[in-house]
Amino acid sequence: MARAFIALGSNLSNPGRQPADEVRLALRELDTLTDTRLLSHSSLYRTAPVGYDNQPDFINAVAELETSLSPLALLHAILALENQHGRERPFPNAPRVLDLDVLLYDQVSISSPELTVPHPRMHERGFVLLPLAEIAPELALAAHGKVSTLAVQCADQGVEKLEENAL
Ligand code: ADP
Ligand code: MG
Repeated sequence: MARAFIALGSNLSNPGRQPADEVRLALRELDTLTDTRLLSHSSLYRTAPVGYDNQPDFINAVAELETSLSPLALLHAILALENQHGRERPFPNAPRVLDLDVLLYDQVSISSPELTVPHPRMHERGFVLLPLAEIAPELALAAHGKVSTLAVQCADQGVEKLEENAL
């Protein structure tokens, strides 16, 4: 079994839901993926958009999974979950109903057009590091150091913890 971390984000929602509902639902759905179990998850966080400003704030979280899926099979499974939520990709960094990214997969390092792991921008993103530090503060990102230290360096990114650990 491998241990993988997934970043979740949403700033749009289906009718009758809020972005926080999309994220909470996705956390539960991660636990239902084939050969995969949800080990832990962070609280939800609110973050101002990065890269393309004229869009709603994001709700973010991080999940820790135990899985026997390969990295690519895991990617395909989470992209299928995004599609179930009605994810569309009109342009890069567009608002999204659900974004699921593979942050880490054990100590595996992959760099292919389809999948880059560890996620190449995770070490500088408060909306990844603050939730990750909540569930895995001691984890080390090979080139960058300990998650809890990196998270402190993102304290000025306006990432706000919303609620305690409840689905
Ligand atoms: P982003 O998350 O960067 O805003 P998208 O969610 O639209 O972009 O994903 C585009 C593609 O990025 C996916 O189809 C996938 O093949 C690729 N990709 C590469 N590395 C990863 C990763 N670690 N996690 C998720 N997708 C990845
Ligand atoms: Mg993505």
